[in-house]
Amino acid sequence: MGLELFDTHAHLDDDRLREQLSEVLVRAGAAGVIEIVTIATTAHSSAVCVALAGHHPQLSASVGIHPNHAAEAADADWDKVASLVDRPEVVAIGETGLDRHWDFTPFAVQEDYFARHLDLARRCGKPVVIHCREAEADVLRMLCDDHARHGPIRGVMHSFTGVWATAEACLAMGLHVSFAGMVTYKNAQDLRDVAAKVPLERMLVETDSPYLSPVPLRGKVNEPAHVVHTAACLAGVVGLQPEVFARQTTSNARALFGRK
Ligand SMILES: [Zn+2]
Repeated sequence: MGLELFDTHAHLDDDRLREQLSEVLVRAGAAGVIEIVTIATTAHSSAVCVALAGHHPQLSASVGIHPNHAAEAADADWDKVASLVDRPEVVAIGETGLDRHWDFTPFAVQEDYFARHLDLARRCGKPVVIHCREAEADVLRMLCDDHARHGPIRGVMHSFTGVWATAEACLAMGLHVSFAGMVTYKNAQDLRDVAAKVPLERMLVETDSPYLSPVPLRGKVNEPAHVVHTAACLAGVVGLQPEVFARQTTSNARALFGRK
C-alpha cells in the first residue's frame, strides 16, 4: 500500500485551482492524497467550499472569514457563515486568526472576528483553523483567554512558522500544529527543529495551496498533490518512513475533522 495523505488546508475555491479542479483532484489522488479540506476565506468562499465538498467525496470544507478579509465583510456575511456551520460537508471553522504582516483589516476588527470564530466553533462543536502571521503574542493572548474561560481548544495552528514556545503553549491548550511548504525551505532549519519536538499524534500536514509550494516546486502554483514533498521532509525530520508518517498524520486529521 502506498502513501495515504490528508491535505488539511487548501484553497480550492481560488481561481488558479478551481478552474482546473478535476485535473487537480486526479493529480492529488495519484499522489496518494485521499482527503482535502478546502478552506474558506470569505462568506462567498464559504458557500463555494461547501458546494465543492458536496460534489467531491474526498473533499470537506471549512466556513469562515479570513482576518485579511474581515474589513470588507458585512453583517450579513457573518450570518451567512453561521448559517452554514451545521452542514455535513463542514468540518471546521475558519480560517480565522490575526495578521500583522498585512494591514487590510484594522487589528481590533481582526480580534473581534477571531473571538467570533472561537465562539462559533465551540457552539457547533467543530475545530477552528487558526492563521497567525507576525502576531504570535496576540494570538496566544486570545487563545489563553478563551482557554481560561472554556477549557481545551479543538483546532489547528495552520501553516505554523512560529517558535517552539508558541507551539508548546498551543499544544498545551489542546491544539494541533500543521506544517506547510515553508518547512521544506533550505533556510527553515529552525522550523524543522520545532517540528521535531511536536508530538507526532498532534501533527498535521497541509499545502495552503495555491500558495507556498514546497521544495522542489517552490515558485510554482501549489496544489494538494504537492503535500507529498512536505510530508517526506517532515518524515525525515521525525525519523519515520514516509508511509508511517502519512498514516499517523492522516489518522490525526481524520480524528480532528471527524472524517471516517
Ligand atoms: Zn489559508
